[in-house]
Amino acid sequence: MSKHNKTTSELEEEIQARLRIAPEACLRIGNFGFIELEDSWGDEATIVNTARISTTNNRLRNAESFSERDRNLLYQLLRDQHGTPFETVYFRFRFVAPIFVLRQWVKHRISSWNEFSMRYRKPISEAYIPDLAARSVDGYAVLDEQAVQEYEELLQGLFAWYERQYEQACARIDADREAGLIPAKSGGRDPYRGRARELLRNVMPVAAYSDVYWTVNFRSLMNFFRLRRKPDAQYEIRQYADAAYLLFSRRLPLLASTMEQVLAEQGN
Ligand SMILES: Cc1cc2nc3c(=O)[nH]c(=O)nc-3n(C[C@H](O)[C@H](O)[C@H](O)COP(=O)(O)OP(=O)(O)OC[C@H]3O[C@@H](n4cnc5c(N)ncnc54)[C@H](O)[C@@H]3O)c2cc1C
Repeated sequence: MSKHNKTTSELEEEIQARLRIAPEACLRIGNFGFIELEDSWGDEATIVNTARISTTNNRLRNAESFSERDRNLLYQLLRDQHGTPFETVYFRFRFVAPIFVLRQWVKHRISSWNEFSMRYRKPISEAYIPDLAARSVDGYAVLDEQAVQEYEELLQGLFAWYERQYEQACARIDADREAGLIPAKSGGRDPYRGRARELLRNVMPVAAYSDVYWTVNFRSLMNFFRLRRKPDAQYEIRQYADAAYLLFSRRLPLLASTMEQVLAEQGN
């Protein structure tokens, strides 16, 4: 899109590095999106062992040692909504997504969020641009090429405006400090530049990308998959939910297939 600022170049470099280091755990989405299943705690054995706290001291090491009986218990627990054993397995995703997708995602309250802040750095100077699939309904393009070009120009104009205003604000702050009109900077963060960033970020559109760590237990993740992989969820969050599902199913295939079975039986 526009020329990358430092924040965006560093993020792109980091994404490329993650794709090289952990290709099976990462996916790119849209023109600048990204998701990685960075870490997970626990597995199918954790769930079954937790559920058997009252009935046996025999603990399973992992899903490879599961008997038919163990697989059946996993299925029954999920089918009958014995929820708490499924809260003992955690996933930490990192994703770069447009703010309008984040607005929908953050409604999944049973999870933890850490988001990139434009108070401390310049915004990510990339915005979501819908490709032909995103702007088509049943093969009919609801926005034509001309509209998308103007959409992109508007966004580029906003990013350019931010850069220009921030540069001017910083030049003025530096000159006034030099002239002794404002206090010398003490400590790490300059409150004057910080306040300029706080105000200038207000023009950033919901199409701008943001960067998030999302930590969620399996019970809540299943709810997210159930709601956000359905055809009535918006296309863009569905792309992220499908990508998250693919990464999760590579990590815990038995739990994924058991969930698929239960959701299908429930008509989801
Ligand atoms: C297609 C679609 C359209 C949507 N449209 C809108 C919209 O127009 N506007 C809008 O604001 N949201 C909208 N949502 C968001 C939706 O209302 C939910 O907030 C979102 O899907 C998160 O689901 P959740 O509450 O089950 O998840 P979580 O917040 O993760 O909660 C998980 C579960 O915990 C329990 N829980 C959590 N908090 C409470 C609570 N306070 N009280 C009781 N039980 C609780 C519930 O059992 C809940 O299912 C939409 C969602 C979808 C999928």
